[in-house]
Amino acid sequence: MHLELLPVAALLRMDTELDGLKREAAELSAKVERAKARVQAAEAEVQRVDAEAKACAERQAAVEKQRKVAAERGRNLKAQLEAGALMDYAAALHQQETLAAQINSLDDAILAEMEAADTLVSARAEAVERKGIAEAWLRDSLEGQRRRRPDLELRHKELVVARREQHGQLRAELRRAYDELRDRKKPILVALVGGACAHCRFSAPPQVIHDVQLGQKLLTCRGCGCWLTGVDEPDEAEDAEEDAG
Ligand SMILES: [Zn+2]
Repeated sequence: MHLELLPVAALLRMDTELDGLKREAAELSAKVERAKARVQAAEAEVQRVDAEAKACAERQAAVEKQRKVAAERGRNLKAQLEAGALMDYAAALHQQETLAAQINSLDDAILAEMEAADTLVSARAEAVERKGIAEAWLRDSLEGQRRRRPDLELRHKELVVARREQHGQLRAELRRAYDELRDRKKPILVALVGGACAHCRFSAPPQVIHDVQLGQKLLTCRGCGCWLTGVDEPDEAEDAEEDAG
């Protein structure tokens, strides 16, 4: 590598670490937000089930009231029949049958509401359990953030100072080129692999490959503008990737 690229490489390491710190801090916050959202969703589910259970209990009470009225009418009719107080006996018998059918169907409705209430009881228990798990996640993510945040902030503070110093020490021309490459999200330092830029695959002429190998000239890739740091054989690059991965 050309000697002038050493401070560039040092600056790039700092910026890479700073990017990593920012990503980590963002991920810590994102974890907390995700856990909060889960707690809220579980809480909303508990409330929804409670509202549904309330409606179910109200429906059941209304049906029970109807059943009570029908049963009362049935008893009155029976008493009148037994007392022989009715003019139209056949009509009274028919009415009695109708009332019995009505009571049957109301019993079915009551049973259905009771079954729905049972289902809601287990749905509520599940939602409460999910809420408990989500709350534990939230506590963990808050604790993780609380433990890690001070170190991140301290390291960030140190790095910002060191980075400013390192950046200021670069020759003006290098500094401008570095900033521009960073703005364009380029890797900044690239190797030639198999005679081409490892980033943009732009082929380098033999003279450039030779010069980069010697490391005595400061050269950039004509495709992406990144500085060329050295020459790798394709196999070496693959091995390096395997080692890294
Ligand atoms: Zn390139």
